[in-house]
Amino acid sequence: MSTKRRDFLKKSVLLGLAGISQGLLGKINSAALPMFESEPPLPVPFVLPDLPYPAEALEPYIDRETMLLHHGKHHRAYVDNLNKALQDQTAVPAMEELLAKVSTYSAAVRNNAGGHYNHSLFWSLMKAPDSSPKNSPEGKLAERLKMVYGNQESFVKQFSETALKHFGSGWCWLVVTADKEISICSSPNQDNPLMDLAAVKGRPVLALDVWEHAYYLKYQNRRAEYIQNWWNLVNWKKADQLYTEAMGS
Ligand code: MN
Repeated sequence: MSTKRRDFLKKSVLLGLAGISQGLLGKINSAALPMFESEPPLPVPFVLPDLPYPAEALEPYIDRETMLLHHGKHHRAYVDNLNKALQDQTAVPAMEELLAKVSTYSAAVRNNAGGHYNHSLFWSLMKAPDSSPKNSPEGKLAERLKMVYGNQESFVKQFSETALKHFGSGWCWLVVTADKEISICSSPNQDNPLMDLAAVKGRPVLALDVWEHAYYLKYQNRRAEYIQNWWNLVNWKKADQLYTEAMGS
């Protein structure tokens, strides 16, 4: 961080504190506070979102310990490292804009922006398992999957095979492509289909993390079992919402 920026940050913090005191006490002379309007704005740091459910909510398929580690350590590291990698930028675009031109940034931005986006999406695409045995696609997405794959089982089989066969760390996706087709694909590391350098581009509808850190504590090397169990957790309502938005845009 440059001295100037550090100075600015320090001054901003002081201003913020002064603002709070002023609000509380109502007797600080604001004219005495320094002004820094000519300073460039600091990039808005990215923030680790809370899990949308308790860490144990996905049990027995994904255990609490894995979730605490995956969210609290791995995802947090992507957010922290993304903010660090962007600290000298004068302006930071919104996440999707950044991903769309990620090839113009450093590898650190690519890996950590992907890591932050992918995990945020992943959490939202899961929910506590239902008591009913079958967790099925909903709405317009259910109709489309049936039309393209014949039935749910056939879709699940193809997606699972893609996830299983992906070599090394990465993600498996269902996407809506620019021409409104739906496609199953996988991407290496923390890449995703919104990136300008993705082999298959599109808007994500489903996302499955196949990094070992996502399942190793509970499943060790049994990726197939993790994938099979993950279907009990898919938040199909959210997936249908993403699908509908992607088809409309
Ligand atoms: Mn992960």
